[in-house]
Amino acid sequence: MGDKENFRDSIGTISEEGKRQWIFPKKPAGKFYKYRKYVSYFLLVALFSAPFIKVNGNQFLLFNVLERKFNIFGFPFWPQDFYLFVISMIIGIVFVALFTVAFGRIFCGWICPQTIFMEMVFRRIEYAIEGDRGKQIRLDKMSWNAEKIRKRALKWVIFFIISFLIANVFLAYLIGSDRLILYVTEGPQNHVSTFIGLLIFTGVFYFVFAWFREQVCIIACPYGRLQGVLLDTKSIVVAYDHKRGEAEQGRKKFRKNEDRKTLGFGDCIDCMQCVHVCPTGIDIRNGTQLECVNCTACIDACDDIMESVNYPKGLIRYASEENIEKKKQFEFTARMKGYAAVLVILTGVLIGMLFLRSDVEAVVLRLPGQLYEMKDDNMISNVYTYKLINKTTKEYHNIELKLLNHNGNINFVTHVEVVVPAQGLSEGTLFIELHQATLKGHKTKVEIGVYSNGELIESTTTNFLGPRSFR
Ligand code: SF4
Ligand code: SF4
Repeated sequence: MGDKENFRDSIGTISEEGKRQWIFPKKPAGKFYKYRKYVSYFLLVALFSAPFIKVNGNQFLLFNVLERKFNIFGFPFWPQDFYLFVISMIIGIVFVALFTVAFGRIFCGWICPQTIFMEMVFRRIEYAIEGDRGKQIRLDKMSWNAEKIRKRALKWVIFFIISFLIANVFLAYLIGSDRLILYVTEGPQNHVSTFIGLLIFTGVFYFVFAWFREQVCIIACPYGRLQGVLLDTKSIVVAYDHKRGEAEQGRKKFRKNEDRKTLGFGDCIDCMQCVHVCPTGIDIRNGTQLECVNCTACIDACDDIMESVNYPKGLIRYASEENIEKKKQFEFTARMKGYAAVLVILTGVLIGMLFLRSDVEAVVLRLPGQLYEMKDDNMISNVYTYKLINKTTKEYHNIELKLLNHNGNINFVTHVEVVVPAQGLSEGTLFIELHQATLKGHKTKVEIGVYSNGELIESTTTNFLGPRSFR
């Protein structure tokens, strides 16, 4: 590794003494920043509203890990549906991998909640209170006078309030928005443990956005760490066109009426705007780096400079290494085709399983340790436990269980009406009685239909035990 690669030995946010170097990025402006703002408005509205939207009475998105209840796009998933959840997660991972192989860390710059909150919410508040890069640096160097105390206190209070709001929304995803609203109306004194949890979440969000910031993307995020294995020379990333920027003689400050081309200098006028605007404190001209979150701020900054000196835009742009080196256009590589094929297959499997998934799930199991009981008239009885799981928001009444492929009886132990509550379960004990002549051996498979108000809502199978030799 030559001297040119020295920058990879350290990260821009840590000084040589190992201390944190605070980044004061210049406020971005330009075409990409404008579009990113639009995307972020949409995503912020979606993120804040998703737990409060209901589909058929189900919260649109719910991740209640404690009670193991999950709703995705209004579909409730129970622990019994865990396989669907796993497939969805695998699809998500393959999708992200495919996307990363093709378009690098585009997700980080445009969609990741960390970047959206950091760059589009907290950073903009900071610009509004403390001003742009130069003013922020001056304020930081200032002693603690009235101005600094006022600005910093205002910023930190607003950051805390927003962190508290985010923590509430986060809680709505975890425990459900209805319960959150109930807790809020009943007051924290009645739900002390949840309130303490809420304050811990608030503290974590505050720490991340007020202090830890870009370190999340550089140090903590596992997705960022994966870039090294997912990216190749064909991946499109935010890249500096070093061929054009450096030419034969390298970069040079701009001088009016100088014929840079003849002198052999590149189009980079070494204005450092791309560096000053970078929220992770790197110099993209050094090449693709682990720290780059593809936020496009340097594209906008450089385009603006290029325009001002009358050079073509795009010195920093979305491009692959091959595009810059060999002027090759984007191609759908074999690796991308492989990932795409896996993605299509998995998505097909998931859709099929979603259609096959029933609203009510029945499980009827023989009571462990119990054999069979001979009754009068050659009737044989087995005892079972049953569990009926209702994944919908409607209640099922007058539940009856009937044998579908045998003549015989099913009797609940209880004599009260069996009801399966909405998004709940009903469980108990029952007996199945079959005539000895209908048995097909020691173990007979019986099919059971679950009826509500006379309508078949689910079917299941179980084993029925009889004597070993019975004829
Ligand atoms: S190098 Fe450019 S795209 Fe990458 S993080 Fe910095 S400003 Fe954003
Ligand atoms: S903004 Fe463009 S011209 Fe200025 S230093 Fe960066 S790459 Fe060079």
